[in-house]
Amino acid sequence: MNPASRESSPSVSGALLPLLVFGLAFTAAYAFAMSFTSAAAAPLWFPDSILLCALLLNRPRRWPLYLLAPLPIRLLVAVAPGTPLWFLLATYANDTVKALLAAVLLRLALKNPRRLNGVQDLSQFVAAAVFFAPGLSALAGAATRAGLGSPFWPSWRQWFLGDALANLVLTPAILSWFFAGDWWRRVGMRRLAEGAVLALGLVGAGWLAFDGHLQTPYDLLVLFYAPVPFLLWAALRFGLRGASGALCVITSFAIEAAEHHRGPYFGQHPELSILSLQLFLMVIGLSVLFLAVMVEERDRNARSLHDAERRYREILDSQTDLVCRYLPDTTLTFVNGAYCRYFGRSREQLVGHRFLELLPESARAAKRREIAELAANPRLEVVEHRVERPDGSEAWQQWINDAVIGPDGRVVELQGIGRDITDRKRAEEAREMLALASRLALVGEITASIAHEINQPLGAILFNAEAAEMGLAAGSLDPGELRRILEDIRKDDLRASEVIRRVRSLLRARSLEMQEVDVNRLAADVVDMVGADASRRGVTLRTELDPEPAVVHADRIHVQQALLNLVVNGMDAMAGTEAAKRCLTVATSRNPDGAVEIAVRDVGPGLEPDVLPRLFDSFFTTKKQGMGLGLSLCRSIAEAHGGSIVAENNDGAGATFRFRIPGNGGVRGAGPRV
Ligand code: ADP
Repeated sequence: MNPASRESSPSVSGALLPLLVFGLAFTAAYAFAMSFTSAAAAPLWFPDSILLCALLLNRPRRWPLYLLAPLPIRLLVAVAPGTPLWFLLATYANDTVKALLAAVLLRLALKNPRRLNGVQDLSQFVAAAVFFAPGLSALAGAATRAGLGSPFWPSWRQWFLGDALANLVLTPAILSWFFAGDWWRRVGMRRLAEGAVLALGLVGAGWLAFDGHLQTPYDLLVLFYAPVPFLLWAALRFGLRGASGALCVITSFAIEAAEHHRGPYFGQHPELSILSLQLFLMVIGLSVLFLAVMVEERDRNARSLHDAERRYREILDSQTDLVCRYLPDTTLTFVNGAYCRYFGRSREQLVGHRFLELLPESARAAKRREIAELAANPRLEVVEHRVERPDGSEAWQQWINDAVIGPDGRVVELQGIGRDITDRKRAEEAREMLALASRLALVGEITASIAHEINQPLGAILFNAEAAEMGLAAGSLDPGELRRILEDIRKDDLRASEVIRRVRSLLRARSLEMQEVDVNRLAADVVDMVGADASRRGVTLRTELDPEPAVVHADRIHVQQALLNLVVNGMDAMAGTEAAKRCLTVATSRNPDGAVEIAVRDVGPGLEPDVLPRLFDSFFTTKKQGMGLGLSLCRSIAEAHGGSIVAENNDGAGATFRFRIPGNGGVRGAGPRV
């Protein structure tokens, strides 16, 4: 055996067995239908329903097998003597096209043509397989029969009803009983017992209605409807499977009665009797099948609704947030698991009761007011308040409250989603404490900086006053010299009081007063301001200003303060430098990123490597009388402007401090606090 044939053999046997079963079923149905002798055509034409089932159950590539298989069967089995071959071939072709048409339509229309799920599926099945395909086929069939001399419309009616009824009764039954999964495994004893009672009832009712022993017109009239309650029972309790099975039972009785000329309409014209039977089965069949799928659909919807509700409840119950719904009088209509756990009560103990009673007495009036306001003015609101926990401890809760509006626009219920925010509140309080502490530290820093900044003007004033005293004592002080000294004293005094004013204003508001500041002007002013001090220290001051006006959005006084610090530090650093070399440069420039930079360059000893990491720390100083606050304040000021400050050693001697403010001017408006 070659590999290909070995591979293909399972699929051949897999395809052959169903085909064989189909052949047998088709042969039996065909033989039975052909044996029907009471009318020109069988009241139910079964074989094609079996063919339709075979097509629906198989993939289209196997359809040709199933469409061709009936041909030999139809030619060989139970052919009425004298039937012309052309008639046999024509009816075969007609029936084949009919089944094919129904199967194609159902494959196109239904998601799963093997299972009729719901009213829409059944409607499409009825339209395609019960009305359209049989109706069309009956036209061709009646035309064929006309060739044998039968009248057209009566032939059409017989042909159509036989096909339609078979598809209506048999196809759903075959599909739902034999090809709809292993449903029988899940059937419980009680259901089995109910099914058995129903089956007995159906057989009894079928026997009563169609057996034909009771022949008085009254008996017949009443008993003809005996199967109806059992059919309804089957539809309501056993769905499509039950309804189609019950229909098959009743139909078998009816056919059997018709075949043996018994039954309610015996005595009338046989054609009329068959027609009554077909119409009865058609009307009752359609009704019970639709009823069955409607019930199934309703059950399915109820189940999925129930499942969805259970799922949502599980999700809600697994939440740590408290979820509740309540009426405006605080009667709870829904609570989740977290709510029950929080109050230590079961759902039954909470739902239907007013939650106001769960709150401490002191909180009730406020809650009542809050709810009344929300009900009167529906909106989503977030409230945070202190609560007393059921164990008596104090906690904070946040509630997101909302009003549920009914179809008439009125508030039906209110909904609250609450969470414990005690931890968050505590963290906030801690942060506030920290902010206060750092504010106090800043106040300390600023207070200390007063001493730092004022020391120099005070020293200069003292120096000038002593110089004037000495001049006066020596009698060598001319009025011009005195005026110059007094002017210096006044300038230094003004500088000191300006520092105090700024520090006081910082303490008061501590927010930046942003304005357009020309950094070139500002640098020149600072250099001017420290001119006298520098000459006393023997320091040459130089400026290298950007030729373009370097305008930024900044707080003039703060930046001036920072620059002054840097300049004074630079001069301090050069105290030990050879007098001829003491030079301090203030340079301004605009960086490529648009930031304006003020660089203060000295030629002092530069920065020791171990100093660099702590340079900007508060209270870091290497000076005897230093406070170690100047550079930390500079950094605060730079950062408050969205800028930065860096320090580096020069290639030659000394260090350079670069104070940068972003080109967009850093922070706008009132700005952050320094
Ligand atoms: P203080 O001037 O009170 O010491 P600062 O914060 O202004 O406080 O400076 C901190 C320290 O940084 C100084 O003590 C000094 O060691 C160092 N420093 C500041 N500027 C310079 C500089 N231009 N050259 C060398 N060291 C400097």
